Amino acid sequence: MRKLSVAIIGAGPAGIATAVELKTAGIKDIAIFEKAGNFCYTIRRLYPEGKRVDRNYKGINMISEGVCSFETETKEQFLERIEKYIKDYKIEIFYNTEINGLERSGQYYIIKAGTYTVAHAYVVVIATGVFDRPRKPSYPIPEEIKNRVFFELPKELPEGEKILIVGGGNTAAELACILSGKCDVYLSYRRPDFFRINEENLRELEKRKDQITFFLGTEIKALEPEKEAVKVIFHDGHTEVFSKIFYCLGGSTPRNLLEKMGIKFKDSLPDIDEFGESNLERVFLIGDVAVKRGSIIYAFNSAHRAVERILEKYHILFNSSS
Ligand SMILES: Cc1cc2nc3c(=O)[nH]c(=O)nc-3n(C[C@H](O)[C@H](O)[C@H](O)COP(=O)(O)OP(=O)(O)OC[C@H]3O[C@@H](n4cnc5c(N)ncnc54)[C@H](O)[C@@H]3O)c2cc1C
Repeated sequence: MRKLSVAIIGAGPAGIATAVELKTAGIKDIAIFEKAGNFCYTIRRLYPEGKRVDRNYKGINMISEGVCSFETETKEQFLERIEKYIKDYKIEIFYNTEINGLERSGQYYIIKAGTYTVAHAYVVVIATGVFDRPRKPSYPIPEEIKNRVFFELPKELPEGEKILIVGGGNTAAELACILSGKCDVYLSYRRPDFFRINEENLRELEKRKDQITFFLGTEIKALEPEKEAVKVIFHDGHTEVFSKIFYCLGGSTPRNLLEKMGIKFKDSLPDIDEFGESNLERVFLIGDVAVKRGSIIYAFNSAHRAVERILEKYHILFNSSS
C-alpha cells in the first residue's frame, strides 16, 4: 500500500499523459493502476493491426496543449510512442489492478481494488475510458445468434461472408473499409448522411463505394435466428440475412462505478469543471470518460489541463511527499 501525491486510474493515452505532465513538473510520487496486463489496452484490443491512428480523429484540427502529441501514424508506431513515454519519464504502472472503489479518509483518498486498498492519494485522476462497456442496441439479441453478433473485433476477421456493420462513426467506416474486398459488406446507419466521419475515412469509403452497400437512413427493429445466420428486420419492413453483424456504436461511461465513488452526473456525463475536477475535491476525470466523444488528442490535452490545475491548486499538499 502506497501513499501517493497523485493516483491515476487507467493506463490509456489520458492516464499516461497525466503521468508525463506530472513528471515534467517534478512530481515524483505518482503511480498508475491499470486493470489489464499492458498499457493502452483499449487501443491494443479494439484497433485492427496496422490501423491508421488519425490525429484529427473527429475531423477537427486540435492543437496539442501539453507535452504529449502525435501525428497520424500506425497503431504499432503509436504504441511505441507511448512505451517511450513510459520509459523516458520512468512511469510506474501497476498492472492487473482493477480499481473499483474510492473512499475519502481525512486528507487522502483510499483507492481500492476489490476489498484491497492499493494506495492512499491526495489527488486522484480517473482515466478509465468508456470502451469496457460497448454501447448496445435497445432490442434483444437472441441467445442462438450471440456468437454471430460482435461489439468488438474478433481475433480473426471474417472472409468471404456477408457482413452487416451498424454505426455511422469512424470505427464503422474503418471496419467497412478493412472488410471490403474480403467480404460482402453492408453498412447500416440510422441517419441519411454521415456527419461524424473524418475526411480521411470519407475518402476511403468513397474509394470503395462499389464494394460496400450503404443502408443509410435505416433503423433495425429486431434480429432473429436464421439457419447459420442472422435475419435483420428493419423498421421499414425490409429484411435481409447476414452471416455476422458488427455493432460500432461507441462506448458508454461507467456510471454505476463512478456514482458508487460519489461522483455526480449532469445530463448523462460526469459533472466536472473545465479542468476535469468533479464534485469530489481533488478527484479529476479526463479523456474519454469525461466527454461525449473523445479522441487521443483530447485525452492528451485534458491531461495537461488537469495537471496545470492540480499544480496550481494543490501543489502545496505534495511538498512533504515529492
Ligand atoms: C476502433 C477505434 C478506433 C479509434 N481510432 C482513433 C483514431 O484514429 N484517432 C483518435 O484520436 N482516436 C481514436 N479512437 C478513440 C481513442 O481510442 C480514444 O479517444 C482514446 O483511447 C481515449 O483515451 P483514454 O485514455 O481516455 O481511454 P482508453 O484508451 O480507453 O484507456 C483507458 C484505460 O483504462 C483502463 N481501465 C478501465 N477501467 C479501469 C479500472 N476500473 N481500473 C484500472 N484501469 C481501468 C483500460 O484497461 C484502459 O487501458 C478510436 C477508438 C476506437 C474504439
